[in-house]
Amino acid sequence: MPLRIVPLGGLGEIGLNSMLFDDGESALLVDAGLLFPDDTMLGVDYIVPDFGVLREAAGRLAGLLLTHGHEDHIGSASFLLKDFDIPVYGTPLTLGLLRNRLAEFDLDASARLVPIERSGRFRVGNFDVESFPVCHSIPDGVGYVFRCAEGVFVHTGDFKIDPSPPDGVPTAIERLSRISSEEKVTALFSDSTNVERDGHSLSESFVGEALAEIFEAAPGRVIVAMFSSNIHRIQGVLSAAARHGRRVALCGRSMVRNVATALDLGYMKLPRPDILIPVEDAEKLPDATVAVLTTGSQGAPRSAATLMALGEHKYVRVRGGDTAVLSSKFIPGNERAISSVSNHLFLAGAEVLHEKISEVHVSGHASREELKIMVRAVAPENFIPVHGEPRFLVRHRNLARELGVPHAEMALNGDILEFSGGRMRFAGKLEVGRFFVDGKGVGAVESLVLKDRYQLSKVGMVMVVLALSSTTGEILYGPDIVTRGVVTENGSEASVDEAREVVLKTWEESGIEARKDPAEIQTDIRRALRRYFNKRLDRKPVILPLVLEL
Ligand SMILES: [Zn+2]
Ligand SMILES: [Zn+2]
Repeated sequence: MPLRIVPLGGLGEIGLNSMLFDDGESALLVDAGLLFPDDTMLGVDYIVPDFGVLREAAGRLAGLLLTHGHEDHIGSASFLLKDFDIPVYGTPLTLGLLRNRLAEFDLDASARLVPIERSGRFRVGNFDVESFPVCHSIPDGVGYVFRCAEGVFVHTGDFKIDPSPPDGVPTAIERLSRISSEEKVTALFSDSTNVERDGHSLSESFVGEALAEIFEAAPGRVIVAMFSSNIHRIQGVLSAAARHGRRVALCGRSMVRNVATALDLGYMKLPRPDILIPVEDAEKLPDATVAVLTTGSQGAPRSAATLMALGEHKYVRVRGGDTAVLSSKFIPGNERAISSVSNHLFLAGAEVLHEKISEVHVSGHASREELKIMVRAVAPENFIPVHGEPRFLVRHRNLARELGVPHAEMALNGDILEFSGGRMRFAGKLEVGRFFVDGKGVGAVESLVLKDRYQLSKVGMVMVVLALSSTTGEILYGPDIVTRGVVTENGSEASVDEAREVVLKTWEESGIEARKDPAEIQTDIRRALRRYFNKRLDRKPVILPLVLEL
């Protein structure tokens, strides 16, 4: 049997990472991530793969192997585990963060979590698996080497090559070159996220120093907004704060929870036992001795950082003298929200620093020069770029070709890559769907519902309420017309009046039988109003007539 490798997500987008390795007798998955929605997906909290495609392989599915604890790699594991009772392999911090998520789905007790070493070797099904450490914007990340009948396969996970990693463990480039020279690697799957950045990504230690300078120089409080999963950076904030006589208040549920998990598992150390203060005490200490560490760096509307900027946060309100630091990437799609939160921070009187004007953020992904180091070290026979939008994948494939990789190809989600005798070929496509999740994952939103929401947001809605007598068909109440997002403030009175006339005229023109049949008159009203709004406003709002019989 040839080995089949199928990306279920992450090849064509940033997020939703998941890849299937299947030799026909046993199969495993690398990562089960989620994707955050763009702004056309109203009310959708996140998107997960439809793991239904795995049903055929269910009997031989031997495990889920996680590379690190980011949501785009572990965020859909609960959905996978609901349907497939398989063991989950990961390093202790990755499993710790996963456990927090599983608890939200009441799966934490039943899940079989198997802790692994960052440099470890174990068996999953027919696969001889070796984990190797990688540096990234979260500690305890790994990549994997899979050895099986069809060869040696390397999956990098998310990585960068940090010359001075905060935890002292570098990305295992030396180990990979040794494997390459001793065994010959059949294929490399490598992280494409930063292929458009030239040179090297800066070391995480750099940010710690930049923050320390800010903590020293800032006249008042320093409020740092960042992703709560970046444990190294949180550690950097705590150390810098301790050095410059500041205490730190944590804000945001995931910030508090992740810090607790990291302390618990030994991935973080308090520089002094009393460095953390309850957020309610932040106002009681002199401003120059306080730092606030919060989530919300992407400007999400009800996030702690936004509430602080708007003066609506329960404990921390931004005011003159404060320095706000947005210590994370401007994620494409979030720019508007981020610039809105920084405007509010400025309006509240704060000084605002972010990655575009200060060294308060470095990327967790390899830039071009680091990607080259990876390709050269592994020197694979075949190369498939992973983790990225199509243009990243094309650029990364081209880079591998320039470096002389014999077969560098671009694959997208669902492509079946078949390996036999060291050769790779495309062997058709698997239909890979996805679910839109609304709220706590209770119900997956149908794409039809989503279309409705999108339509409503674009064209607005007109609701008509009319009550008719069931015996005579006379009007007992209404017509009442409510519109949302259809008419401008000025034009509203007139067109609502006219719309009411249209409804009355429709009623007048319908026969007595139709007046006693709500379904029929509803259809007539909808048709008449649609024609009216189209002609009057050149718009096609969603029209919802509600005709009651009394
Ligand atoms: Zn990551
Ligand atoms: Zn990622």
